[in-house]
Amino acid sequence: MNVVEASGLGKRYGRTWALRECTLEIPAGRVAALVGPNGAGKTTLLNLAVGLTAPSAGAVTVLGGRRAGSRAALDGIAFVAQDTPLYKTLSVADMIYVTRSLNRRFDQPYARARLDELGIPPRRKAGKLSGGQQAQLALTLALARRPRLLVLDEPVAALDPVARHDFMATVLAAAADDGVSVLLSSHVLTELERVAGYLVLLSRGQVRLAGEVSDLLAAHGRASLEELALHYLRETAPEVTR
Ligand code: ATP
Repeated sequence: MNVVEASGLGKRYGRTWALRECTLEIPAGRVAALVGPNGAGKTTLLNLAVGLTAPSAGAVTVLGGRRAGSRAALDGIAFVAQDTPLYKTLSVADMIYVTRSLNRRFDQPYARARLDELGIPPRRKAGKLSGGQQAQLALTLALARRPRLLVLDEPVAALDPVARHDFMATVLAAAADDGVSVLLSSHVLTELERVAGYLVLLSRGQVRLAGEVSDLLAAHGRASLEELALHYLRETAPEVTR
């Protein structure tokens, strides 16, 4: 099964194509990394996949042919947008309550236990948590929905190396233990090296490379995902971080 399938997918803002002629099949059971320079179209592709925005051309389906944004699709997807959006004035406990109330399926014991394990106090306002704690709270709320596909837009950009590592460890555990498929965008190539089994490389609104990381490395004679991505992005992506 493919968790995301796009065919001739495009999104235009005025005269600018944020994403063009995107044809892709991302298989289930992987952590798939979406890599590309600023403005490459990563957020646009993720927003199209979760149904937050409508295509200007082509089509995208998720979780084995469900129309992006349809109820059947949304039922199986959890999405954490860039900058980990939370209601900053609500306490952690209230965020759990709100998320549980808005979702048909929500594993409250899991959410409570995980936040407890992370030492995140239930009474603290979400806005008063550190950046890493906010990211972990958003991830916990997403995972407590028990999704089949977890979509993360730049989840670790603002985190220190330890927080990044812990965040990614949670994502990997969800993938390995619970079989959650993951699609995440990131500029942090070193972190992706550890987790990604599938790579989609975007540049200037177009897919330049997509496939299993091991196949791509063999085909392009590169030793690491970082080396491969940098090779393709060097011209257009001086801002890609290490
Ligand atoms: P970054 O790494 O900086 O987050 P990105 O790869 O996620 O970048 P997108 O946010 O998808 O890139 O943007 C792709 C292109 O589409 C950019 O040129 C951007 O200016 C444009 N764009 C995105 N959203 C809009 C919008 N709502 N209105 C107009 N243009 C937009």
